[in-house]
Amino acid sequence: MPIRLALVGIGKIAQDQHIPALQANKSFELVAAVSRSGGIENLPCFADIGDLLASGLDVEAVSLATPPQGRHAIARAALEAGLHVMLEKPPAATVSEVADLAARARDAGVALFATWHSREAASVDAARKWLAGKTLRSARIDWREDIRVWHPGQEWILQPGGLGVFDPGINALSIATAILPEALLLQSARLEFPANRQAPIAAELSLRSGETPVEAAFDFLQTGPQSWDIVVETDAGRLVLSDGGQRLAIDGAEVSAGANEEYPRLYRRFASLVRENASDVDLTPLQLVADAFLLGERIEASPFSF
Ligand code: NAP
Repeated sequence: MPIRLALVGIGKIAQDQHIPALQANKSFELVAAVSRSGGIENLPCFADIGDLLASGLDVEAVSLATPPQGRHAIARAALEAGLHVMLEKPPAATVSEVADLAARARDAGVALFATWHSREAASVDAARKWLAGKTLRSARIDWREDIRVWHPGQEWILQPGGLGVFDPGINALSIATAILPEALLLQSARLEFPANRQAPIAAELSLRSGETPVEAAFDFLQTGPQSWDIVVETDAGRLVLSDGGQRLAIDGAEVSAGANEEYPRLYRRFASLVRENASDVDLTPLQLVADAFLLGERIEASPFSF
């Protein structure tokens, strides 16, 4: 029997990725939307999670594609009702909220899946395998995109808890923490906050993975070519993971990869976790972002408007 799932928050990523991935996966039946804006055609729509739970509709799992602020309360209500829960990245607005949800899922004996979609990009596994056992000399992360193109009008992203440029930057950190052999530790950071906003629009991080220096530059004001690249220099050559983890080259030679299937892979994994009542919650990328806010030098930048 398919897992009866309700999708919460029908915005850009729900439309672009979650709905198609769910409709193509026979392990799930999409049975409802929780949405303030209209929901999903031909499905019942509830204004909030409380209304869904009170409705008596037979639902076993929810997938949350709302902004991180407020996600803890929705997930908590679902876990308390005995539902399995899948979370978009970042899993919540704070590290403590995620730890609390993990404990609640454990107590309730249901699945909690804190997803990192970029880790599922086509060449990430191959990059991790190639780096294993190599001596790393340095690594460089460049994540530069145009907020006006990719997040038009998403005011929440520059509000407290929205992470600003770390909303895409955390994807880079989710890949780096998956492929680098040793834990990433933040050494210093420089965060640029627009004078009229509460979240950074650009950031530079200096980190270490063991003895390997790792430099990261995140920019939300990149016009022209966009970059989502990680370059690692090793004793056995140069690894370039580009297009957000989709493409891999070793010393300039492209390594062929399968189709990019980030969200289909996430839902296949969630189905397995639900069947096993198991959780997959890795806080590491969110911890690094929290560390950047703890340790980072704060610079005032020009006011920003969409
Ligand atoms: P979005 O387009 O702004 O959609 C978020 C949806 O959440 C809204 O349409 C709204 O749906 C619901 N919502 C509930 N409370 C809200 C509030 N207080 N403010 C705004 N919306 C609220 O955002 P998104 O780009 O889909 O991002 C959602 C999550 O997915 C974020 O955590 C983001 O990091 C992640 N993500 C986004 C992308 C991307 O390319 N955009 C890629 C991967 C992951 P209803 O009207 O249905 O209630």
